[in-house]
Amino acid sequence: MSQILIVEDERKIARFVELELKHEGYQVFLADDGKAGLDFILNQKPDLVVLDVMLPSMNGIEICKTVREQGITVPIIMLTAKDDVMDKVEGLDNGADDYMTKPFAIEELLARIRVALKHKDSHETAQKNPCLQHGNLIVDLDKYTVKYKEDLIALTKKEFDLLAFLLKNKNKAISRDAILNEVWNYDYVGETNVVDVYVRYIRQKIDDQYHDKILQTVRGVGYIIKDE
Ligand code: CA
Repeated sequence: MSQILIVEDERKIARFVELELKHEGYQVFLADDGKAGLDFILNQKPDLVVLDVMLPSMNGIEICKTVREQGITVPIIMLTAKDDVMDKVEGLDNGADDYMTKPFAIEELLARIRVALKHKDSHETAQKNPCLQHGNLIVDLDKYTVKYKEDLIALTKKEFDLLAFLLKNKNKAISRDAILNEVWNYDYVGETNVVDVYVRYIRQKIDDQYHDKILQTVRGVGYIIKDE
């Protein structure tokens, strides 16, 4: 049975989500304070976290950041206030896997939880063979690190997931839609340029830095990493 932690200080929402998740057969834990939520994640290792942004004592973005800095890869679904675009961007940049805007339909949250848990399982299977290599580039799926020769390269979680996905499919052209599905877990209809933005970030950090053309554009399709 998957264990899900809900970090949310609004009692009504927390209680409502708790009941729905229990009904779906999950084991549910509640924290109504940021620090308590962080402690739970670090010590109890839940399978998934539903994390509100605005919380007493420590906000959701700080929690996310701290959790990732500790190398914990638990899926995190962020709950953000309506229209707060900065929270969404910051949340994703700091390692959240997904977000929901309040007020949300519970069915949608349940669907995203299922996707995130499935994604986690496939990631854990991949960890049996945790290193991917391409020339001087080594991606360690277990430690969540990327090295070029001996240099450690700091990537955000989305950048890492995108790079790892292309490497796992080496020599295959991967469409932007497929990348969105895999890395962002679902379709952002009409927002495929988010992929281009993240490819640009990775190129700045690796290709440009080491004068090595790793991520190649496949015109009209998407991207590829291929052997020379
Ligand atoms: Ca709140």
